[in-house]
Amino acid sequence: MRIPKKYGQSKVNNCPFCGKQSITQNEQGIPVCVEHNTTSLNDCKCMCGDYLDLRQGKFGPYFTCMNCGNLNFNKGLELNPDATNLKISQPEATEPKKKQSQFKFTPTETVVTSDELDFM
Ligand SMILES: [Zn+2]
Ligand SMILES: [Zn+2]
Repeated sequence: MRIPKKYGQSKVNNCPFCGKQSITQNEQGIPVCVEHNTTSLNDCKCMCGDYLDLRQGKFGPYFTCMNCGNLNFNKGLELNPDATNLKISQPEATEPKKKQSQFKFTPTETVVTSDELDFM
């Protein structure tokens, strides 16, 4: 079942990372699915260029900007499509209890060339 995104909605029901129904919250208090309960939202910026602050309200998370005031959570995500982009590697630090599995690709294949043997 897929619920189409409705703008202007104050309640957040879907995982912003994949669109599935959220049944839990991540460490930022954002409703997410089980798969993404350790995924954090990247930094979000307001349309004025300032960073948005993530807050928790009665109806769920919302953003607030020092210059512009409160901003709807979905609207904030709309302005920051990269914030939910899982392909972007998040910078380390800031939150020590970040538990994200990272796969490291270490090439084990060694390319052996016999060129230098023939060099005489
Ligand atoms: Zn998800
Ligand atoms: Zn602003």
